[in-house]
Amino acid sequence: MEKVATNVNLKDQFWKRYIDVVRHEVIPYQWEALNDRIPDAEPSHAIENFRIAAGESDGEFYGMVFQDSDVAKWLEAVAYLLETKRDPELEKLADDVIELLGRAQQPDGYLNTYYTIKEPGKRWMNLRDNHELYCAGHLIEAAVAYFRATGKRRFLDIMCKYADYIGTVFGRGEGQIPGYDGHQEIELALLKLYEVTGNENYLKLSQYFIDQRGQQPYYFDQEKEARGETEPFWYDGGYRYHQAHIPVREQKQAVGHAVRALYMYTAMAGLAAKMGDESLKQACQTLWENVTKRQMYITGGVGSSAFGESFTFDFDLPNDTAYAETCASIALVFWTRRMLELEMDGKYADVMERALYNGTISGMDLDGKKFFYVNPLEVWPKACERHDKRHVKPVRQKWFSCACCPPNLARLIASIGHYIYLQTSDALFVHLYVGSDIQTEIDGRSVKIMQETNYPWDGTVRLTVSPESAGEFTLGLRIPGWCRGAEVTINGEKVDIVPLIKKGYAYIRRVWQQGDEVKLYFPMPVERIKAHPQVRANAGKVALQRGPIVYCLEEVDNGPNLANLFLPRDAKLEAHFEPDLLEGVVVITGIAERVDESAWNDELYRPIEPRTYKVPFRAIPYYAWCNRGEGEMVVWVNEK
Ligand SMILES: [Zn+2]
Repeated sequence: MEKVATNVNLKDQFWKRYIDVVRHEVIPYQWEALNDRIPDAEPSHAIENFRIAAGESDGEFYGMVFQDSDVAKWLEAVAYLLETKRDPELEKLADDVIELLGRAQQPDGYLNTYYTIKEPGKRWMNLRDNHELYCAGHLIEAAVAYFRATGKRRFLDIMCKYADYIGTVFGRGEGQIPGYDGHQEIELALLKLYEVTGNENYLKLSQYFIDQRGQQPYYFDQEKEARGETEPFWYDGGYRYHQAHIPVREQKQAVGHAVRALYMYTAMAGLAAKMGDESLKQACQTLWENVTKRQMYITGGVGSSAFGESFTFDFDLPNDTAYAETCASIALVFWTRRMLELEMDGKYADVMERALYNGTISGMDLDGKKFFYVNPLEVWPKACERHDKRHVKPVRQKWFSCACCPPNLARLIASIGHYIYLQTSDALFVHLYVGSDIQTEIDGRSVKIMQETNYPWDGTVRLTVSPESAGEFTLGLRIPGWCRGAEVTINGEKVDIVPLIKKGYAYIRRVWQQGDEVKLYFPMPVERIKAHPQVRANAGKVALQRGPIVYCLEEVDNGPNLANLFLPRDAKLEAHFEPDLLEGVVVITGIAERVDESAWNDELYRPIEPRTYKVPFRAIPYYAWCNRGEGEMVVWVNEK
């Protein structure tokens, strides 16, 4: 059975820097925020809510109805950090929070501060809007991660007790609630709980939530009636917002709130793999094609509309009003990993890589102090004052009243080691090229693999394979979809990989000896990328990409009015590493053209053949934009 290899020792320069930022900046800052000790930020009250629920403090519940999930995501990120490096002080802090959760847990297992404090007696009465199972899901994910990292059972036991209770409440049985949560999350969390406990009840409960969704009569209608409400649901697509408009197996188009959709697809893919469920697998594949070939930005951003933070329709990918929530790209990464468990195909890892190096980490500044919720591909700061672009912030913010993205990014970055490898009984697959060591067992033989690379700036990767004794097994090496002309050598001898490649992976099967060296070389020329002609926003425009990195142009490098900057088709594009810029990045430089505005004098419109002049330009990685103050930015540049 496939499993994610998590016993990874990360050595990568690029990701280690990010993990250090999470360890030294994000996690301590979030801890202060959760405890309301950041003077000029919105209070969180999340820890205080647990104290009140535990009867240890007076006061009122404060915050979003899903405020508990911020604590959960913080704990989960802490777990991954502890997995990479034990830290007694941090562990003590987490243990204390876990004890607090234990004290806030109700005798029947229920654990939710909003309902415990504010509306006791009204549990499970508004599944559509109030995120009860969503919060439970995040706490379960955190508990699983904490158990895996520390071996301590306390948190896991608390959450098993809660999950057992949920299992009695929900289902199709007599006296049970035939419902499901408005915000999917519990489904993927129960799957993880099953993986770590082996308790099939959790698997079945996850399957129940997935199967029940969208069945008629709509549960959200029933509970609405029970609440005495009559007005229609606010989203004009109705329950499409929660992907509850039709049963999940019949869904062919990604619709509604993007994060909800992608958390659901993640659970569907995981369940399909665990249960060998063909119809669920097919639904996942259909939805995958729709998302990644019709509704995804080049950055791995998804959910293009601010209204409902949602998917819209095929090829609708506006750059300047893009929503592309950080959490949605993160959710896309979760989904890719489950799809890889379902089917080994490089197209999934390609999207994983695209989102990881572009649309997820763009959500945080380089020193981990400020965050984007929305990730536009074009910004004109002045236009952000306009009501239809208010969601687009020209600079990252310190914290949000709805603080979903920063802790979500923290847990993704801290667990990056979980995305690199995947193991089957007699093979190890390498999805991502990230400097790391992995110690594992393949076919009953202990094997250590050392991966060294300067990715994403350089396409050379060296893998040293050291089995305890010589033995035959397969290394499945991903050949990135962006790469043309990959070369592989083993112990210095060139291997013709073309016949070895199946669905984006080179399958190298041989008797491996201690110290065998596989060298991969992925050429990284600067590529000019065009969007499908149906993407109206990108007509006549081109984006620059090198390896997995998508580039953008910023005002600070190229002056204002980036709309008046054209890239000639024959422009020579050069790439070089700048160690002192933006923590060290490869930049792309060349000569562009601008239209001479002076010919317009004071007119707005003129019949004129524009005169152009040449200007040097510099493009930087998209993820690193807005680290040098406020200014314009474009990913898609006019082509001439
Ligand atoms: Zn978010």
